Amino acid sequence: MTPPPEQHSPLPVDGQEPDLVILARVVHTLDPDLGDVEALAIRDGRIVAAGGRNDAAAWGGGATRVIDLGAAAVTPGLVDAHLHPISGLELARGVDLSGCEDLDAVSAALAEAAAHVGADDWVSGWGLDPNVFGTTEPHGGVLDAACGGRPAFVMLFDAHSAIVSRAALRLADVVGEREFPDASRIVVDASGDPTGLLLENEAMRLVESIRPSESFDERVAHLVAVLEGMAATGITAGHVMDMHDDDAIAVLEAVEAQGDLPIRLRISPMCVPGMTDTEFAEFVGLQGRGGRRWTVEGVKLMIDGTIDNGTAWLREPDTRGESTSPLWLDPAEYARRVTELHSRGIPTATHAIGDKAIEVVVRTLAALQRTGIQHRVEHIETLPDDVLAVFVEAGIAASMQPTHCTHYTRADQTDNWSVRLGRERADRAWRIGDLRTAGVTVALGSDWPVAPYDARASIADAILRRPALKPHVAPVLPEQAVSALQALEGYTTHAFASIGAVGGTLSMGAPADLVAFAVDPLDSDPDDFAASDVLLTLIDGTPVIGADERVDA
Ligand SMILES: [Zn+2]
Repeated sequence: MTPPPEQHSPLPVDGQEPDLVILARVVHTLDPDLGDVEALAIRDGRIVAAGGRNDAAAWGGGATRVIDLGAAAVTPGLVDAHLHPISGLELARGVDLSGCEDLDAVSAALAEAAAHVGADDWVSGWGLDPNVFGTTEPHGGVLDAACGGRPAFVMLFDAHSAIVSRAALRLADVVGEREFPDASRIVVDASGDPTGLLLENEAMRLVESIRPSESFDERVAHLVAVLEGMAATGITAGHVMDMHDDDAIAVLEAVEAQGDLPIRLRISPMCVPGMTDTEFAEFVGLQGRGGRRWTVEGVKLMIDGTIDNGTAWLREPDTRGESTSPLWLDPAEYARRVTELHSRGIPTATHAIGDKAIEVVVRTLAALQRTGIQHRVEHIETLPDDVLAVFVEAGIAASMQPTHCTHYTRADQTDNWSVRLGRERADRAWRIGDLRTAGVTVALGSDWPVAPYDARASIADAILRRPALKPHVAPVLPEQAVSALQALEGYTTHAFASIGAVGGTLSMGAPADLVAFAVDPLDSDPDDFAASDVLLTLIDGTPVIGADERVDA
């Protein structure tokens, strides 16, 4: 980073004492005018001074709280640019199994959960990696013993399949194969009995629908717990990519009736195909709704599905002959909606994964009148050069998820995603490095609950192009790696720029949204950073995580 500036703010600023002074080994302000500093003063939730530790000695008064973070590194609060924290509650019920690497770990985690519920109560889990079954197909047998005969439902990581216990099958009256209107399937063994593996929505719904749903109060508490977990990894804000749930606004209002949201949420509801003009007008009317730490702003759209499921939109079919059409069946209607939103000054974010989908989206956006409204494309999984060029020319922002690449594809291209695309298109996977080199704004995020939200690991993965803390895993297209600064920018300045906002820096007058890491993200091994403690997370100068035990009053 740039060296500390010569000029430091004299204090007391305009004659008033700060409420809080933060001291650290280094504060990466990401503000070119300030560079790196060692101390920040905060008043009324905003940064009022920056400088060296020596300067800070003169800042405080009797009422100023001082938090000395010692050797820690402070950065602007991290922004996850792609989240589903409310609709994700239903998917992410019970035990988070995403960290379990073998069946013993899965059994232990579920047995622990089962020990805390009644004999007939349900046990739930999510995020399960099917690789824990090795070469065997996933099945529900593991749940019967671990959950002590209770009904159990465990969602696999992709949310497209689940394993359930024998008791759950019995309660749902699932005894064998059935016909479904879509590709859903109840997997059975040689004698025709269900193995407990359920594929796709309709099959999963047979069991899910009899599992007691979370009550409204449970949803409120669950959301707070999820957002607190995010804050504990250094996240202070998120871009929410849907508002599917009928009660989403009521849930947010209920949280704020009892306290503050642990992170800020900018919520972009989803504009779907087939909306009538009346529905669309009502939908647009949601813009600007909000509370203390949440606001409805921007619109999400979705033009295709996913490569793994054969529902992406590719220029040429995948190796199984799939991914040939858009999810938004009439792309002209998509273009009409985007144009209408643009003319009303509403920024959009469109899910586009396949090369054809990305091309149609960026050409649609490039054709809009230049008015300063910043539009963005989500995912961008396989990107040809000619389409990348349109991003640059039209000033379109990108929003990408490093862990989708590092968790779900492999360097040797033997994974489902790469096999479906074939070599040439798989070699254009998650071109974060090329986009940054070309000058495109690239916001980073997790897509939680599709992938874990831990921002430290996501930043490390963007730098390493392999899962953090797994040095034995070969990197996927290492030439697409970004620098530590670029990765941090993806969670700070570029996250703001990607929605046409200014922020993500610790500048004079900026909100004091910041995080303190024990390990410096800009000056350490990325794996060490991924395992770093988060010592403090502040929003508007108020601690969300940490602080109490470190306060020198
Ligand atoms: Zn998403």
